[in-house]
Amino acid sequence: PFDVLVVGGGPAGASAAVYAARKGIRTGIVAERFGGQILDTASIENFISVKHTEGPKLAANLEEHVKEYNIDVMNLQRAKRLEKKDHIEIELENGAVLKSKTVILSTGARWRNIGVPGEAEFKNKGVAYCPHCDGPLFEGKHVAVIGGGNSGIEAAIDLAGIVKHVTVLEFMPELKADSVLQDRLYSLPNVTVLKNVQTKEITGTDSVNGITYIERDTGTEQHIELSGVFVQIGLVPNTDWLGDAVERNKFGEIVVDNRGATNVPGVFAAGDCTTAPYKQIIISMGSGATASLGAFDYLVRN
Ligand code: FAD
Repeated sequence: PFDVLVVGGGPAGASAAVYAARKGIRTGIVAERFGGQILDTASIENFISVKHTEGPKLAANLEEHVKEYNIDVMNLQRAKRLEKKDHIEIELENGAVLKSKTVILSTGARWRNIGVPGEAEFKNKGVAYCPHCDGPLFEGKHVAVIGGGNSGIEAAIDLAGIVKHVTVLEFMPELKADSVLQDRLYSLPNVTVLKNVQTKEITGTDSVNGITYIERDTGTEQHIELSGVFVQIGLVPNTDWLGDAVERNKFGEIVVDNRGATNVPGVFAAGDCTTAPYKQIIISMGSGATASLGAFDYLVRN
């Protein structure tokens, strides 16, 4: 069996695997797609000490770093079941069962898509999902935020400090965000809130140039010219495959303590798939290191 088996090969998993291997213990990493979300990211400017990089380049760097160590890398393999017996068992889609004394879950998350024409086409060309990451790219421009929940309104407040104007589009007749956030939003001079509207299309040529929406009470179609659209309708953790094997919160995030431990002894978790707040590369890598040291500590004591 492995001493540490990491499930997920994004920034959190790569970091966890390197930290484990550096302890000289038997380490494996199984990933559906080594690199994770950063493979879909254009430019990255907030990975501190690296002023600018591109997602695929950072993913290649992660892989290179992992390959420096004696780590068993199983790429293009999807885990479908976790079960705690004498060891912890991870069953893969291909039927193989991997056994390990400890497991680190780092299966990440995905942004929920709005699914309208233009969204996929203009991803990274005006369509964005992370205000902390891409907000500064729209300095002085007009952007829209789709989604009036807490994350959408937080994004709108954040962006209003950087961009020229923010238009919030909410499908329901009321915003769902906490009232303290709504109060803050409505106090800002450069924000327009559109409620009860349905986004129909994100338009553009080489990059985004506008958004078309329908006023749901009248059925009237409207178009606004702008340069960016932030889709903020939810971040979904890739944890459904765990079922009840590990405790998750109502959003599906794996519940972890400050050492990355879950409710199952020997099972740790890190990164975007957990309850840890703020989903970022640097934060995922830090939590991967934490979970790995937590797992090592567990091995020493058991
Ligand atoms: P992920 O990167 O999601 O990796 C999860 C890994 O688990 C993948 O290898 C995946 O294939 C694997 N996996 C999933 N399910 C299974 C399974 N069942 N079995 C096996 N493997 C599985 N953050 C920043 O800090 N700066 C930025 O500029 C930035 N820009 C972004 C731009 C975009 C378009 C997106 C989508 C995200 C961006 N982020 C950015 C967020 C950042 O990418 C994430 O916070 C980070 O990748 C999370 O790392 P992770 O390892 O927790 O998860």
